[in-house]
Amino acid sequence: MTVEKTDVLVVGAGQAGLAASEHLSRHGIPHVVLERDRIAERWRTQRWDSLVANGPAWHDRFPGMEFKCGPDDFAGKDEVADYMVAYAEKIGAPVRCGVEVTEVRRNEGRPGFHIETSDAPIKASYVIAATGPFQKPLIPPLVPDMAGLTQIHSADYRNPGQLPDGAVLIVGAGSSGVQIADELRAAGREVYLSVGPHDRPPRRYRGRDFVWWLGVLNKWDMEANPNSEHTTIAVSGARGGHTVDFRELAAQGITLVGRTEEYKDGVVTFAGDVAENVKAGDANYLSLLREADAFIEQNGLDLPPEPEAHEIGTDPACMTDPIRALDLKKAGVTSIIWATGFTQDFSWLKGGACDETGKPIHRRGISAEPGIYYLGLPWQTRRGSSFIWGVWYDAKYVADHIAKQRAYMVYPGAVADPA
Ligand SMILES: Cc1cc2nc3c(=O)[nH]c(=O)nc-3n(C[C@H](O)[C@H](O)[C@H](O)COP(=O)(O)OP(=O)(O)OC[C@H]3O[C@@H](n4cnc5c(N)ncnc54)[C@H](O)[C@@H]3O)c2cc1C
Repeated sequence: MTVEKTDVLVVGAGQAGLAASEHLSRHGIPHVVLERDRIAERWRTQRWDSLVANGPAWHDRFPGMEFKCGPDDFAGKDEVADYMVAYAEKIGAPVRCGVEVTEVRRNEGRPGFHIETSDAPIKASYVIAATGPFQKPLIPPLVPDMAGLTQIHSADYRNPGQLPDGAVLIVGAGSSGVQIADELRAAGREVYLSVGPHDRPPRRYRGRDFVWWLGVLNKWDMEANPNSEHTTIAVSGARGGHTVDFRELAAQGITLVGRTEEYKDGVVTFAGDVAENVKAGDANYLSLLREADAFIEQNGLDLPPEPEAHEIGTDPACMTDPIRALDLKKAGVTSIIWATGFTQDFSWLKGGACDETGKPIHRRGISAEPGIYYLGLPWQTRRGSSFIWGVWYDAKYVADHIAKQRAYMVYPGAVADPA
C-alpha cells in the first residue's frame, strides 16, 4: 500500500490549525490539516448557547478578514464558527474533516514521522499539534457522585433549562463562571459563586474597550514567565459587553463565597478569602485605570475623563460575613457547575515532545522533539497566544521555523525527500 506523504501535518482545524495553514501556504509549504470533527468544532458545540466572544469583532479576529457583524459587536459562538469556516475557504486551507490523528511516531533511522489516523496512515516531515488550549474539562475530585446532585463542567453547560430545578453552586469565577452565574441568576435561580483569584479589567474605560487598552499598554504581548501563576480574567461580552463587578453580582442576588475547599457529609466548605480575592481583582482593575490615565496623558489623547469608574461599591454581606460551609441539601443546591478550567491531552504524540506528566516541552511552540511543533497553547509565547488574533502571530513564527528547517534539509547531501 502506498502511504500518503506531505511536508507538514497540522492536527486540528480550530483557529490555530487555520492560522498554521495560512502561514505554511504563504511559504508554499505543502501540508494537510486533519480535523476529527468539523472546522471550529469547539465553538460550534462545546460552548453554552448564549456565549458571545469576549472581545469585540474588530479585535477578536484574524488580520485578513472581518466579521459580518459590526466592529464593536460581540460575535456569537456560531458566528465565530462560521467565520472560521469562511476563513478556511478564503485561504484554501487543505482541511480534511472527520479524521482523527491517533498516533504520531518518529521514523526510525530517517527523518520524519509516521502518523496513524482514524482513516489511512500518513507520513510527514513535520507535525504541528494545534489541538487546542482547552481540551479536557478539569473537575477537581472534591464532591462524589451522589443522587439528587447534577455535576457538570462549564464546557457541558448549555442553558438554564438543562439543569434540574433548584439552586446552583458555580465553582470558579473566570469569564465562564461569572457569565454562567449571571445567566442563571437572570433566569431566577438561586446562585452561589465560588470566587478565586482573578484579574478584572474594565469592559470600557474613557471610550475604549479593554482589549484596546491591553493592546496599547503592551499587555497582550506580555511574555510568559515560567514562575508566574496565570490568573484567569473575568470579562464578559454578554448584553453588548459590561464590566464584571462582583458587588453588582451580589446585588443581583448571587451569593459570593471563597474558594471551594472540601466536601464532607453533604456540606461544602469554602476558604474565607472571598473579600480578599474580590479586592485583589479591584486592585488589578484600578491599576489598569491608572495605567490608562497615564497613557492618555503621556500621549495627549483627547478621551473623556471617567472619574466614576474609580469608585468601588460597598462590600455586600457575603463578603463581610462570608459563608464558610454550605449544606447543599438545606440550601436547595441541586447542581454544581465546575468552571475550573481545562487540561491537555497529547498522549497521541509519542517521543520526547512531552514530559513524563504529559505536559508539552517547548520553546515558543518548538518542541523538544525536533520536527514537532505546538500552536495555541495557553501562554505559548505571550498572553495573547491562545486567542484568535494571538495565535496568528505564533503560527507565523512556527511556519517560519519550519521553512528554515526545510531549507537546511535541501542542502546538498541532505535527504531530498525526508518523509
Ligand atoms: C468559553 C470560552 C470562550 C472563549 N472566548 C474567546 C474569545 O472571545 N476570543 C478569543 O480570542 N478566544 C476565546 N477563547 C479562547 C480560544 O479562542 C478558544 O479556546 C479556541 O477554541 C482555541 O482555538 P484552537 O484552534 O487553539 O483550539 P480548538 O478550537 O480547541 O481546536 C482544536 C481542534 O483540534 C481538533 N482535534 C483535537 N484532537 C485531535 C486529533 N487527535 N486529531 C484531529 N483533530 C483533533 C478538535 O476537534 C478541535 O476542532 C475562549 C475559550 C473558551 C473556553
